[in-house]
Amino acid sequence: MAEKSFKYIILGGGVSAGYAAKEFANQGVKPGELAVISKEAVAPYERPALSKGYLFPEGAARLPGFHCCVGSGGEKLLPESYKQKGIELILSTEIVKADLAAKSLVSAAGDVFKYQTLIIATESFLQILTGEETLTDFGVKGADSKNILYLREIDDADKLVEAIKAKKGGKAVVVGGGYIGLELSAALRINNFDVTMVFPEPWCMPRLFTADIAAFYETYYTNKGVKIIKGTVASGFTAQPNGEVKEVQLKDGRTLEADIVIVGVGAKPLTSLFKGQVEEDKGGIKTDAFFKTSVPDVYAVGDVATFPLKMYGDVRRVEHVDHSRKSAEQAVKAIKAAEGGAAVEEYDYLPFFYSRSFDLSWQFYGDNVGDSVLFGDSNPSNPKPRFGAYWVQGGKVVGAFMEGGSGDENKALAKVAKARPSAESLDELVKQGISFAAKI
Ligand code: FAD
Repeated sequence: MAEKSFKYIILGGGVSAGYAAKEFANQGVKPGELAVISKEAVAPYERPALSKGYLFPEGAARLPGFHCCVGSGGEKLLPESYKQKGIELILSTEIVKADLAAKSLVSAAGDVFKYQTLIIATESFLQILTGEETLTDFGVKGADSKNILYLREIDDADKLVEAIKAKKGGKAVVVGGGYIGLELSAALRINNFDVTMVFPEPWCMPRLFTADIAAFYETYYTNKGVKIIKGTVASGFTAQPNGEVKEVQLKDGRTLEADIVIVGVGAKPLTSLFKGQVEEDKGGIKTDAFFKTSVPDVYAVGDVATFPLKMYGDVRRVEHVDHSRKSAEQAVKAIKAAEGGAAVEEYDYLPFFYSRSFDLSWQFYGDNVGDSVLFGDSNPSNPKPRFGAYWVQGGKVVGAFMEGGSGDENKALAKVAKARPSAESLDELVKQGISFAAKI
């Protein structure tokens, strides 16, 4: 059992960790000052690839192709780059105990890591069906059958790729109708699986999509051969004699045959290591606009952080890649500036989400509150669908969405969501469509 000391430790090896390491390298760290500790066996990578290019039947994305920070057009930090930059990359190391008062972390193998400054970047993890940890923990019958899979880390994606190969052209049930459920259903369909999506809500992506937007995607998916079952959940599984999943029982009494089940249901922040040691809010670790937590010298970034969203005068947790990158950079800039007696500006984040599946690609900026209107051609049979939506609250446009937008159109969405201009009427927004945003 070893004890090591670092000036800075980044705990986690995901997107935020990669972008924080890059920012430390940009700002300058001395050899041996910074360590990144991850339970994954690979250097930080762009996680969104796992439900997209990683699952392509041909030309699939593989590491080292998508290590951070290629997702934002930045320098790719290969495993050896960390060493060259004097950063210690400590992989396959799960931290099981954190003592924030003593400034120490303990790994599963009993190694102790001391720090002066800690950045917590430990993600969200899958929240299964009801908010418990796994289907098995929740006592769902048969949930430990083989080929019931989850997708969070690269090991999970490898298991899914193996199952896709082993069950070629078989039947897949995707539990969950969020963006991961939608992306996985598309990926399995592209791999020639007979796919059924099951989710309890009245339409897909209910946290963002309106019924109108969802209707487009559901019809598009149905046209591609994906079956969609709404308003119910998986309540149990039966297995073959060899332990592999055979059937999914739905709460509404139906039974679906399945060679693979993939569960992509929501996420909740991984804060258990720090329970009782740091202030929490909205289920995440509470931070200020510099990602400082309530404990001196401890920062939290990415999915795990509940931070002030300045433009809405609100505090939120955001589980999307753009924020994980930007929050990591902000925290490191704040740490380095404070060392030099300076300060950085408060984080002023404009929420941005995106997803890609089949030939589709959408982007959303801002807040999805108030009334909403659809513009453009949302006919799912159109070979190149191109439509959008605005959200209007208090007479101002506060959110903008577009499927199939060009680079310039997507930039216009960002501008309109940031500027929050007044809208004459919803009808006028429908009439003007994307040109309303383009004029901002
Ligand atoms: P993560 O990237 O999840 O990294 C957390 C890291 O911490 C992991 O390496 C984990 O192993 C490590 N860790 C956790 N606990 C410990 C411990 N105790 N000890 C050591 N290491 C630990 N967002 C979008 O905006 N668009 C998308 O299209 C999109 N697609 C996605 C597809 C998938 C399959 C997934 C899972 C997420 C997707 N996201 C997408 C969300 C996005 O990837 C996350 O918001 C982002 O990765 C969060 O970054 P993070 O650094 O907070 O956490």
